[in-house]
Amino acid sequence: MASLIAADMNEANEATERLAAVRDTIARACKAAGRKPDEIELIAVSKTFPAEAVEPLIAAGQLSFGENRVQEASAKWPALRATRADLRLHLVGQLQSNKAHDAVELFDAIHSVDRPSLIDALAKACAAMERRPELFIQVNVGEEPQKGGCAIADLPSMLKQARDAGLGIDGLMCVPPADIEPAPFFALAAKLARDNGLIRLSMGMSGDYETAVMLGATHVRVGTALFGTR
Ligand SMILES: *Cc1c(COP(=O)(O)O)cnc(C)c1O
Repeated sequence: MASLIAADMNEANEATERLAAVRDTIARACKAAGRKPDEIELIAVSKTFPAEAVEPLIAAGQLSFGENRVQEASAKWPALRATRADLRLHLVGQLQSNKAHDAVELFDAIHSVDRPSLIDALAKACAAMERRPELFIQVNVGEEPQKGGCAIADLPSMLKQARDAGLGIDGLMCVPPADIEPAPFFALAAKLARDNGLIRLSMGMSGDYETAVMLGATHVRVGTALFGTR
């Protein structure tokens, strides 16, 4: 029993330390770029990790979390949310139109709006529930065929469609190609946001959030650096 409690405390300490290290890195990147740390929302991406791994982070003061599947999130989060009213839940993974209703009900922000049919489904769900999560259009900045996100050329028409459907779009999200320098892709996403009058930018993961912050990210999505490898 005593050793069980010690193991729990160990986990809680580790979570606190990892969180402090990530916040430190964000603060350093902000300083280098002349930004303020409170301009950046750190989203702890807890996909594949159980509620027991999330609890120590909540106890350490982390309130924003990200998931990539509606089904996994609806199994994990209602009970956690019942413990604290001020948690914020972000959907960072691809969303099927037939899950739009569940997503609008469960999430405070959706980062993966990437096609006309999904905008339609979200507009209907938001109207039916009189609820509007923060919305990001995901842009396929590396023009990779296998990746989610709309083509850069389609961004203006997607924004117009959303406006016409009564959905405000709050920002852009991107996941740059793996294994190459991400900075040019972050800079491109920042330019696209600026050109389209959008102020929020969801970019940067465990391997590159420092660079993303220097290039204007307002939301970083960090999993591995907070929870360990999946
Ligand atoms: C899993 C995931 C993350 C977090 O990735 P890490 O490399 O573990 O930090 C961020 N964004 C999206 C879209 C993801 O699917």
